[in-house]
Amino acid sequence: MKLLQEIVGHRQSVKILKKAVSSGRVAHAYLFAGPEGVGKETTAMSFARALLCSLSEDGDACGVCRECRLFSSGAHPDFCLVEPAGSSIKIEQVREIQRRVPYCSYQGGRKVFLIRQAELMTAEAANCILKTLEEPPLDTVFILLSARPQILLPTILSRCQAIYFKAMSMPDLIRGLVNLKGMPEEEARLYAALSGGSMGRALSYASGSLMADRDGVNALSGLLWHGGPLDAVEMADKVSESKQKAFFTLDTLACWYRDLMLWRETGETGGLFNTDRVDMIKMEAARYDTDRILAIIEEIAATKRKIEVNANTRLALETLFLRLCGGSGQQY
Ligand SMILES: [Zn+2]
Repeated sequence: MKLLQEIVGHRQSVKILKKAVSSGRVAHAYLFAGPEGVGKETTAMSFARALLCSLSEDGDACGVCRECRLFSSGAHPDFCLVEPAGSSIKIEQVREIQRRVPYCSYQGGRKVFLIRQAELMTAEAANCILKTLEEPPLDTVFILLSARPQILLPTILSRCQAIYFKAMSMPDLIRGLVNLKGMPEEEARLYAALSGGSMGRALSYASGSLMADRDGVNALSGLLWHGGPLDAVEMADKVSESKQKAFFTLDTLACWYRDLMLWRETGETGGLFNTDRVDMIKMEAARYDTDRILAIIEEIAATKRKIEVNANTRLALETLFLRLCGGSGQQY
């Protein structure tokens, strides 16, 4: 488990949190808002441990005291993680929290409740937790995580100190991957580029088998170019098996088109992500003008956003692929 000071990126957020711990001026409720996979939960866990640590120094956990060890083993009695049961966080789950809140902490310090995907609270559950946030009990800290804070009740938002997590920068991602995985920088650059600013996603690509599919995804642009609507629908069907596969495909495609554009504009291979596919990039780049490539990259990003807010993955991909297909028969 990471210390706050070991969190990659998010310097400003980490600074605010460490300051809160070291000064003892801790809010009753925090909202960690930002896209999936950028590090909200990792940071929240480190923050929670720092809040519970009995020997915290400079606003960070010591990592060795009894509290820290209990926390790291997942057994700290004053820490409670709440996550959606099925598709929502139900009122019974919030009532369970409320039952625990009035009691003293087991270890005599704070109590910390971490709520994952807080936007999935049902209206009843949200109204119920609001009561607790309105009369915050002493030494109790709520941390709400959400990729879609805009759909939380405004009354809940106003009770929380918001900490924003942005997509991570390429240099931060590359540094993080090199440090965490010990991979060469060249390789880290590709994963970082594919991750869409999410360290979680970069790590899952780096440790999963999806990368073997990269060639298949890179070939998609060519297949769509030569194919017709029925091919587009068939490809969307294959890619929409899982959200993870859909995101991987969209991120990989966006990188591919970005390489096509870079080659068109500069005629140089130095900044390409897919350095092992230069010949294909040169060939495909000749098919498009820069405006068309930019429009495609924008459409891919829009499709990703739609899927992130729970649009039907298959329909969103079909729409995109139908727009991209049949280029060989058209003039751009
Ligand atoms: Zn400690």
